[in-house]
Amino acid sequence: MIPIMYPKESYKCPTCGVALVERSIPDDWKCATCGSAVAIYAEDHEGRRHTVNRLKPGELQVGHSVVVPTSGLKHVHDVLAVTKEPCGYRIALKGYGVIRYSADELLNCVTGGW
Ligand SMILES: [Zn+2]
Repeated sequence: MIPIMYPKESYKCPTCGVALVERSIPDDWKCATCGSAVAIYAEDHEGRRHTVNRLKPGELQVGHSVVVPTSGLKHVHDVLAVTKEPCGYRIALKGYGVIRYSADELLNCVTGGW
């Protein structure tokens, strides 16, 4: 599953402390060396900047902040609940509602700014 990507992105492993190039990053967006979630320094079309991790819905936890797809980096909502369903996951977002993802899709989760 190809994740939603932003116009400008650079990549770093927070554990190894090294910059990564896109072609070296596995499809699960974990560092190939240590397995940490790759820190993505993302900027959208309107100049909004956040650091994000790309996580599968099964990796989400309550309190994570998810970028609503197709909104650039404008709409970020806190995860209230993640429920496994037969065909994937139901994710309840504060102030937004429910989105559904299949198990191998990747969501952009905001971890900070830059
Ligand atoms: Zn690493």
